[in-house]
Amino acid sequence: MTFENLKLLPQILHSLAAKGYINPTPIQEKSIPHILEGKDICGSAQTGTGKTAAFALPMLQLLFNSNAHQRKGIKALILAPTRELAQQISDSFREYGKGLHLRHAVIYGGVSQHGQTTALRSGVDIVIATPGRLLDLMTQGHVHLNTIEFFVLDEVDRMLDMGFINDIKKIIAKLPAKKQTLFFSATMPVEIKKLSDSLLKNPVIVQTAPVSTAADLVKQYVYHVKTENKKALLKHILDQEEKPHVLVFTRTKRGADKLVKSLLAEHIKAEAIHGNKSQNTRQKALDRFKNRTISMLVATDVASRGLDITDISHVINYDLPEDGETYIHRIGRTGRAGASGIAISFCSPDERSQLRDIMKLAKNIEEVKAHPHDASHHSEEPRKQNGQNQQRRFTPRRNNSGSNSGGGGHSSWRGKRTNDRSYR
Ligand code: AMP
Repeated sequence: MTFENLKLLPQILHSLAAKGYINPTPIQEKSIPHILEGKDICGSAQTGTGKTAAFALPMLQLLFNSNAHQRKGIKALILAPTRELAQQISDSFREYGKGLHLRHAVIYGGVSQHGQTTALRSGVDIVIATPGRLLDLMTQGHVHLNTIEFFVLDEVDRMLDMGFINDIKKIIAKLPAKKQTLFFSATMPVEIKKLSDSLLKNPVIVQTAPVSTAADLVKQYVYHVKTENKKALLKHILDQEEKPHVLVFTRTKRGADKLVKSLLAEHIKAEAIHGNKSQNTRQKALDRFKNRTISMLVATDVASRGLDITDISHVINYDLPEDGETYIHRIGRTGRAGASGIAISFCSPDERSQLRDIMKLAKNIEEVKAHPHDASHHSEEPRKQNGQNQQRRFTPRRNNSGSNSGGGGHSSWRGKRTNDRSYR
């Protein structure tokens, strides 16, 4: 299957070709035809599966074909949990929508609202927003949603985790009854199922991967280590890598800042992003990480969603996340779009119950015993889950060939990543 088979507009095919995309990803293949027919979608897909284009391409096409730019008001609203994700979705709309003359604006908090209200006043067809700032602007009378024809809720599970449920309900209450709704969530717990049932009309269910499984191209390892030795272990791991490009997660903002300080003292170029940093500072740090001015980005969970940084060699859980779902979201930052990646978790003796929870969802985590700071024997061993955790005797290295995917069965787009970013 190629994009040509999906009956997309020549302008869109041109934009896709410019990005080097040839084959649609499974979620794109399954969603695009239904969205083009005007159906509601309830999609569950892992991070990095190409979800954004799955909804953006057909929406752009339908808006273009209906001469949306000649009608007044906002026609499409996309809600996303984080500023970073909103910005990325906005970038995707810009890239995929070249030559279609549709205007879009991105709205999120943490920055002055002036630029956003100016864009809204000048008239836009598509708004991509985080719920909090959108509600603010609605209350101030800058945004009216009575002309909405398309409504997308992206990463709904994360929005609920982040406490946006009431904001989302208030926004939904302002939308017209007649609209096409596209609903995406990596997981579908009961509360989300209820929300989707209340919103969607005869939706097409699109599921591309078993819910809550870790990206299968990511090799996952856990190192048992005492808290006071985590820094030394991180250094040990980094020393073995030629050009690491590493996203590190810490539990607290203070922990992130402290770690960056000690990395800088070791002459390792690192910066932190978390909720206490202004949006500008975060964006600049992200840019420096993307262009490899710095090799390490230390983040709290605020940043675990929505980061589309290609070629992250390692995600390192310096502190274990509270639950398995957050773990899955974190490690989804590597192994994006068919590339291989490594996820390493540090587990101190007091984090072992968290590790057990995580292992219930992520079953392919291997234990690395042969390292200078091994603390697995310092107190009781973690309970093994389903006998899945094998022991390893060497330090994992990245395999760029993509051959560590754990067996065949991948569709063509998941093939070896090529320089032109096309998937054969
Ligand atoms: P998403 O899940 O939307 O965040 O997309 C994950 C990554 O895959 C992004 O870097 C996209 O640019 C990329 N991508 C999306 N669709 C395709 C495709 N059909 N072929 C190759 N890469 C893609």
